[in-house]
Amino acid sequence: MTPIPLPLLLAATLTGTTFAVAPSTDDDPRPRPNIVFIMADDHCMQAISCYGASAGPGVVETPGIDRIAREGMRFDRASVTNAICGPSRATILTGKHCHRHGFATNGQRFDGSQQTFPKLLQQAGYRTEVVGKWHLSSPPSGFDRSEVLVGQGDYWNPLLVVDGERSRREGHTTDLIHDAAVARLEALAAADANHDGDDDGDDTPPFLLMVHHKAPHRNWMPHPRHLDLFTDGDLPVPDSFFDAPDRRSPAGAIQTMRIDRDLAWLYDLKIDPTTLHPDEEVSRLDRWMANELARVPQEALDAYDEAHREENAALAAAIEDMSPRDLALWKFQRYAKNYLRTAQGVDDSVGGILEALDRLGLADDTIVVYTSDQGWYLGEQGWYDKRWMYEPSFRTPLLVRWPGVVEPGSISDALAQNLDFASTFLEAAGIEPPADLQGRSLLPVLRGESGADETLRDAAYYRFEESRGAHTVPRHEGVATRDAKLIRHLDLLDERGESILELYRLDVDPEERDNLAGRPEHADLQRRMLERLEALRKHYDAPENVPASAPDRDI
Ligand code: CA
Repeated sequence: MTPIPLPLLLAATLTGTTFAVAPSTDDDPRPRPNIVFIMADDHCMQAISCYGASAGPGVVETPGIDRIAREGMRFDRASVTNAICGPSRATILTGKHCHRHGFATNGQRFDGSQQTFPKLLQQAGYRTEVVGKWHLSSPPSGFDRSEVLVGQGDYWNPLLVVDGERSRREGHTTDLIHDAAVARLEALAAADANHDGDDDGDDTPPFLLMVHHKAPHRNWMPHPRHLDLFTDGDLPVPDSFFDAPDRRSPAGAIQTMRIDRDLAWLYDLKIDPTTLHPDEEVSRLDRWMANELARVPQEALDAYDEAHREENAALAAAIEDMSPRDLALWKFQRYAKNYLRTAQGVDDSVGGILEALDRLGLADDTIVVYTSDQGWYLGEQGWYDKRWMYEPSFRTPLLVRWPGVVEPGSISDALAQNLDFASTFLEAAGIEPPADLQGRSLLPVLRGESGADETLRDAAYYRFEESRGAHTVPRHEGVATRDAKLIRHLDLLDERGESILELYRLDVDPEERDNLAGRPEHADLQRRMLERLEALRKHYDAPENVPASAPDRDI
């Protein structure tokens, strides 16, 4: 097949807490708080300044998110039960592991008829709304109003569905979602005219507003106002960037998420591949992207062109003589900078939502949560994407502001999970979480109760099922405690026919570069972690582990 020429216009475009608040009593009911739940897609802790962004001090600045940390609680050990978009969203809504809510891979369809926390809040009188990315195949349910992207959503001029009605909106998606969120806050506040907080029964009910950003999900098309960020030099490269993919275990070689190999030139890296390799076939993603760009506003195309023109021309001139190592580093810089620029739009939105809450007089009565549907690889191990139970994707940012309850500037190292949000919001609203929820309420942690961090959970269960989807990461499950992690590969067997294991001591090896599984000197730790895993499997009623009949490694 001959290369498809791209339009000329694309040529160059492209801890611990001590502060305690007395719990409510029947005699002194706390007014039910509003809840603003802001979630990004694929935003990792390494890209947030209050978490000590991996780019180093002063390079990445996220003042909006940092404000929540300053005025609320920063969770340093929060994680997800399955590091992939749709399943994480379903876990958040239901408070259940994927095998219970039935949405374990992105190819499935969420059964919207099941119990979710927005439905329970709605039944209890809350006004419930969602704005932004939905991505569960079935339409939103349990919301008085929904304004959501179709599917993954586009970065420019996206299709939105407002209460079932489709329309295309002009602009950058992050800003459109933000503007919609602020408009909804204004509408909700206006309807709050009767709110005097005196609990005499005549108040307008509180609200839940879920704001789900698409950014900084692939394919990293920032708003032009952020293109001048990170232009002063190179971002630091993670220590593990050049680690061999199978350094930890054979499983590591079975993936298609390598920055040096798997990013597409135009789709991901914003450079026309025909200027680099005129004789090579253009990839499927790049052909798709060439069409997609026809919908991007000309001003944005011009801005991308201007931002990348010099670097793109220099690469085209040099690529034949570049070492694989230098080319990998070039791709890392281009990818990571556009990822961070795209994330900056999300931070602008967080800051803007906090300002709107101030302006509307809602801040004191509102819980604000910032999180992501999971973490992300920002070059660690030479990777982008997520899926693995390793720390960069397993862990997720989580910040909570709740005036009068959460001590400003507090830090928690509780092993909180996205599994816990449903129970937390229900309990905050004065609703007893149903017995079938599998998470724990974070309220004792948020209140700063003594010992709450430790008693919340001493081990977290994880299960990834989407080996046949994009990026071909093998199915695995695992258990993480404060100090150790054990991963069991469900379809990868050793020569004895047993599941391949990985074992890490997080206390001395937080980057998980030294797999201790099978080493005699760590046999006791391995045995104890396997026991923890089995106990959690039983506790959560996890499915039987049946290895796939056909190995996924050929996919
Ligand atoms: Ca995601």
